[in-house]
Amino acid sequence: MDPNCIFCSILTGDLPSAEVYGDDLAYAFADISPVTPTHVLVIPREHVAAIEDIDQDREPLLGHLLRVAAIVAQQSGISRDGYRLVINQGANAGQMVDHLHLHVLGGAVMGRMG
Ligand code: 5GP
Ligand code: ZN
Repeated sequence: MDPNCIFCSILTGDLPSAEVYGDDLAYAFADISPVTPTHVLVIPREHVAAIEDIDQDREPLLGHLLRVAAIVAQQSGISRDGYRLVINQGANAGQMVDHLHLHVLGGAVMGRMG
């Protein structure tokens, strides 16, 4: 846990969040400023600042986060029509929170990327 990290504070319950899914390794909650009708963030329960911080031993965590994203999509009812999974990594991608997170975006037709 990083005491200066917003998402760690959400995980400890010091900051509120609207839970969508949770298990031993991952937690999913509604984004506070949704850009699509469904906008959920999937995060690891451990503080991982950047995707490069994942070493080979923790590689399965990335697969788990993707599987949780698919579960969230199914539970949110966006699976049939399709959805987008996004990881913003670093300044050029506009990353605001330095705790690895996957955006699950759906419920609307999205434009082509770029
Ligand atoms: P990034 O740009 O780092 O990929 O995305 C960070 C996301 O976290 C943004 O979509 C932002 O709306 C969301 N966010 C920032 N602070 C909070 C918060 O306190 N609670 C929730 N639920 N989402 C947050
Ligand atoms: Zn954190």
